Amino acid sequence: MQYQVLALKWRPQSFHELVGQEYVSRTLTNALESGRIAHAFLFSGPRGSGKTSTARLLAKALNCHDGKPGEPCGRCVACTEIAAGGCMDVLEIDAASNRGIDEIRELREKARYNPARDRYKIFIIDEVHMLTAEAFNALLKTLEEPPPHVVFILATTEYHKIPATILSRCQQYSFKLIQYPLILERLRTISEAEGIRISDSALEQVVFSSGGSMRDAMSALDQVIAFSGSEVRDEDVSTLLGLVEPRVLAETARAIAGNDLEVLLRTVAGLVEAGQDLNNFCRRLSGHFRNLMVVKAGISDPALLGIPESVLPDLRVQADLFSREDLLRLFDAFQKIETGMKYATQVRFQLEMGLLEMAHIARLRPLEELVAEFSTYADDAPPRGPGGGSGAPPPRVSPGKVPADHASAGRAPAGRAPAERAPAGRAPVERAPVERAPSSAPAPRRKDEARASAREEGEDRDLLGRIASALGRESLESLLRSFSGARAEGDRLVLDPGGAGEFIRHQVARNLDAIAGAAAVVLERKVRVTVEGGADTRATSAGDEGAPATPAPQAGAASSPGDLLDRAGREPAVRSFLDTFPGPVKAEKIDE
Ligand SMILES: [Zn+2]
Repeated sequence: MQYQVLALKWRPQSFHELVGQEYVSRTLTNALESGRIAHAFLFSGPRGSGKTSTARLLAKALNCHDGKPGEPCGRCVACTEIAAGGCMDVLEIDAASNRGIDEIRELREKARYNPARDRYKIFIIDEVHMLTAEAFNALLKTLEEPPPHVVFILATTEYHKIPATILSRCQQYSFKLIQYPLILERLRTISEAEGIRISDSALEQVVFSSGGSMRDAMSALDQVIAFSGSEVRDEDVSTLLGLVEPRVLAETARAIAGNDLEVLLRTVAGLVEAGQDLNNFCRRLSGHFRNLMVVKAGISDPALLGIPESVLPDLRVQADLFSREDLLRLFDAFQKIETGMKYATQVRFQLEMGLLEMAHIARLRPLEELVAEFSTYADDAPPRGPGGGSGAPPPRVSPGKVPADHASAGRAPAGRAPAERAPAGRAPVERAPVERAPSSAPAPRRKDEARASAREEGEDRDLLGRIASALGRESLESLLRSFSGARAEGDRLVLDPGGAGEFIRHQVARNLDAIAGAAAVVLERKVRVTVEGGADTRATSAGDEGAPATPAPQAGAASSPGDLLDRAGREPAVRSFLDTFPGPVKAEKIDE
């Protein structure tokens, strides 16, 4: 017996069998039952969502000799001929290959004659957006004055390319991408009926390789059955569909996060040995990192992720290994690797070097974190003697690359003690020669003056930490954590910058509204947020009244760029930054 492909064999025979398009099937059935038949239908939607199947179904329903309205019998001569694609009165045209005006003129000619046997002459035009402008015009003339016995069914994957004049003359139906669980259920029904033994996880792999297209899922299953027969093994599915096993992707992601170069090289070697296509692996891995980003953003809809639900928990664990910035950078790096591999003569080496570079990228640290850290060094270091080089210019070191030991320094979560964070061999004091310009930053208040007891300080610190966590913005969170504490006083929340540097104070002051929002969640009431005390006595505030969120202009704000540069150079944070990132300083104006 000749093997009939599943997509044809299991084409829906009634509107009830149409999977995932309830709105379309209900509306069409109602129209057919009430006898209000439009002269032109437009089916739009993604590929494999059932447009052509529905068009044939509609053609059958319109021309069926026996069935009830809206329910083609499937047995009469019209139904069987349409199913086989050989009906005189139903013409299927692929506009992708018949897109010119001549083809449409020919079609109009045919439309003038009555149907040979059945009720309607039906034209199904697939991929109708491919028609030329002239062809669309010719089609429009027919749609404007349609012969009573003619029905047009237009199908397209690109709705936006259809001229408005055509759209306005069609009854429009939009098809949705079919949900993965529905495709899975359909494939399970089919494989059971066909006597195919296949595991659920293998079936899931087939479904998720299809990208939501029922037709693609069915041809993938065809391919698997053709290879394995009625007993399908899981590993056959991965190999046949060119899938990379989720385990391999997870291992690679972990190795990139952990800078495990050996595992990365072994993975590539394993793929080469197994005869896997490395370009395909790279594409899958890039999709995997895209999924990590999606999970990182707190989205866990398997349909959005395009993965079986069973691998979701592990995906979350992997996502925790990276920061958002890491994932964005890694995704960028993938683009480069993929492009590089296209033109490479040694694809393997290109991939290996790409992966090693990614392992390196994953260990670069976000700039905000570094800046916050430098400020902490600077402010924690003991001040020098009075007047000790207070007018010193910023250190100017010749431009150069970031020293390797800095770029690859281990990742340190914000909040650890500064001494721990300092790269080995350098004491914080050395890294951050500190002195304060008396005019702009008076010496910090002594802590025992500002605080009643150490216990209270702990509570303040704790409240600050909880508000910082509630912010949901990593960069702002780490900045706020550089403050020494927060205390709630009635309807006010007072933030104490402690020894935080001017840069951090400024950044926090600009975001008081966001902090007020987070504080409202933690304290369960609305509060006005102010910054008071610390090294800088100027207070800033913002809250529900919408007070300005930026600090008052500093005295002497109108000074020349040279003065500003000079003053900036005296900021401990800036000096410490320049210490690590040597380079010339350029005066830039920052507009608020
Ligand atoms: Zn029939």
